[in-house]
Amino acid sequence: MKLYNTLTGKKQIFKPQNGRVAKIYACGPTVYNFSHIGNFRTYIFEDILRRTIKLAGYQTLQVMNITDVEDKIIKAMKSGKKLEEITLPFEKRFFEDITKLNIEMPEKTPRATEHIAEIIALTRKLIKKGFAYVAEDGSVYFSIAKFKRYGRLARLGAVKQKSADRMAARIEADEYDKNEIKDFVLWKAKKPGEPSWDSPWGPGRPGWHIECSAMSTKYLGNTIDIHAGAVDLVFPHHENEIAQSEAATGKPFARFFIHGEHLLVNNAKMAKSAGNFYTLRDLEKKGYDPLAFRYLCLQTHYRSKMNFTWSALDTAKKALTNIREVCALNKESDTTSKIKASKPISQNKTKEEKEMLLALSDDLNTPQALAVLWSALKNKNLSAKDKIALINYADRALGLKIYETSLIKKAILKTIPAELAKMADKREKLRQNNNYVAADAIRKKIEAKGYEINDKPKGYQIIKK
Ligand SMILES: [Zn+2]
Repeated sequence: MKLYNTLTGKKQIFKPQNGRVAKIYACGPTVYNFSHIGNFRTYIFEDILRRTIKLAGYQTLQVMNITDVEDKIIKAMKSGKKLEEITLPFEKRFFEDITKLNIEMPEKTPRATEHIAEIIALTRKLIKKGFAYVAEDGSVYFSIAKFKRYGRLARLGAVKQKSADRMAARIEADEYDKNEIKDFVLWKAKKPGEPSWDSPWGPGRPGWHIECSAMSTKYLGNTIDIHAGAVDLVFPHHENEIAQSEAATGKPFARFFIHGEHLLVNNAKMAKSAGNFYTLRDLEKKGYDPLAFRYLCLQTHYRSKMNFTWSALDTAKKALTNIREVCALNKESDTTSKIKASKPISQNKTKEEKEMLLALSDDLNTPQALAVLWSALKNKNLSAKDKIALINYADRALGLKIYETSLIKKAILKTIPAELAKMADKREKLRQNNNYVAADAIRKKIEAKGYEINDKPKGYQIIKK
């Protein structure tokens, strides 16, 4: 497979450096608020990355950090709450949201606050090697003048030169832009009212960048295969991670840096002040299935800017509904075999499966993979069985849960409460197992709720009485 590597500015062939396991680090959420749909676009692309790597025959060992101490969280603490009173509920909501989007859980999701010892050890090492120094107030800074390769990822050459005179200056903020190339903070001395941990330099807390270097090395070793994130992390975050890690270990930090482009709303940057800031929950409140948002994201290549509009989401929702209906129809005609979603990966891929993997292996071309799926589903010469098999393959590759969710087609379920649909499904299973007594008991319950259930040759229909 080929991936576009920000380090080289080229598409390159990707293979894990050691054997079959691809070691991936993806920067995770800062848990002070709900993640927005732009964040989720990034997590969806990273999910496609790990799915593709697995379909290509490798395993994944992915780490995604949870940033649970950082400037924005400290700011939110001004409301009088304790650190974990802010972070834990939002961490929980984040995992709920990625589950709804059918994003696979990374193998490890470590929290920054549980790795203070590793962060201190790394900071000490950087001081010892002369790459970092302690300031008057007990904060520790990374000296970018000492790390000659600084700026390689973000191609800062000219900017760096221009700001050479300012290089001895320091920046304390976790986030800043290219006009502020300065020594960045590794350890922040405690300020009144802030949470803190003991350190050789006095009480304080870690800066944002250091946690990723510390946790990446701990779980994945000195050199990882892929570091992924959104494009706005290239500078300063990933640039600083490289500096910290490579200065400490003397080894390359990551072989590939993969970055996903921004999501715009009505062609503008999403901002709370502009009133165009949406969380996944905002979409759900308007009645959208999170998987329709996932479908929408897959329609745009991850390295292109994606413009979110409600009408685009409507179109994606319709397309997903159509695929589910086609899947349901094929399920009905495919009476010869029952293919379970958990079917092991077949060694002999069909032509369509090969085409889909080929598209994804070409720098995660999801629009092309969707096109392969659609053209196969429209192909009259392809049997229902083959179509169902391809849908199952697509579900592993694209994570749209088509096979599973196409059950919804049974009857006019759009108008039927979810609870009733669940009962009807349960009854259907009982009937298939010839357990008619238990099935009939459920029928009576459904009728008591004012609905009628009619059995059809394949499935059933529910009608309001
Ligand atoms: Zn990071």
